[in-house]
Amino acid sequence: MITVKDLHKSFGKNEVLKGIDLEVEEKEVVCVIGPSGSGKSTLLRCLNLLEEVTSGDVFIEGDNLTDPKININEVRSRVGMVFQHFNLFPHMTVLDNITLGPRKIKGVSKDQAEKDAYPLLEKVGLSDKADVYPESLSGGQKQRVAIARSLAMEPKIMLFDEPTSALDPELVGDVLNVMKNLAKEGMTMVVVTHEMGFAREMGDRVIFMDEGIIMEEDKPEKIFGNPSNPRTQEFLSKVL
Ligand code: ADP
Ligand code: MG
Repeated sequence: MITVKDLHKSFGKNEVLKGIDLEVEEKEVVCVIGPSGSGKSTLLRCLNLLEEVTSGDVFIEGDNLTDPKININEVRSRVGMVFQHFNLFPHMTVLDNITLGPRKIKGVSKDQAEKDAYPLLEKVGLSDKADVYPESLSGGQKQRVAIARSLAMEPKIMLFDEPTSALDPELVGDVLNVMKNLAKEGMTMVVVTHEMGFAREMGDRVIFMDEGIIMEEDKPEKIFGNPSNPRTQEFLSKVL
């Protein structure tokens, strides 16, 4: 589903990604861990064309995102992304937040988009919130709306960038449960997270990033049980 080859990304003179190689198979859940500033968000953003790649290649289902002829909106509809800070439209109801993408980008009718939205609201446990505005929701509810909004585009791949980091601890579980159900349904997912429990339980593979490179990648049992790289060991000793 995703192939990354020797990906480099610089901001001015600051080289943030220094040669990333990565493969993600269909239905795989890959969790990305690592210290702040190591380039995790930048990597995800390169998978979704939110950042322009400096050099290297990123293929999504075989299509090279660095091809200048690529249709950015079409790729983004295949690769959903959920951010730490929800980014819901505050002046729109939950239902309108969810139906906006399908209507504006895919040209789906309002009626059809709304019909499609209700099962998604049910999936994230918010069937009764269709007509409210984001301000009346808790952080965890907002994040679940953001997930439903992303799913409304029928993505093949979902990218999550620290989706629970901004939440009060008691709200984290509901969001993680939605993500677990998605994973169980076979969604291909790349999840940047500090939730080591989630990575251990749901990750098919865990990637440890530091200073713009993948330092170590392996099954969660290995990364958490017996990491090979001293940097991984040091990082885990601080967060576990
Ligand atoms: P992480 O998500 O692992 O914390 P990031 O990918 O957000 O790391 O950031 C890695 C580095 O890239 C940081 O040094 C950050 O300051 C820099 N960076 C990220 N985005 C930009 C940007 N838009 N412009 C300039 N520098 C950036
Ligand atoms: Mg980040």
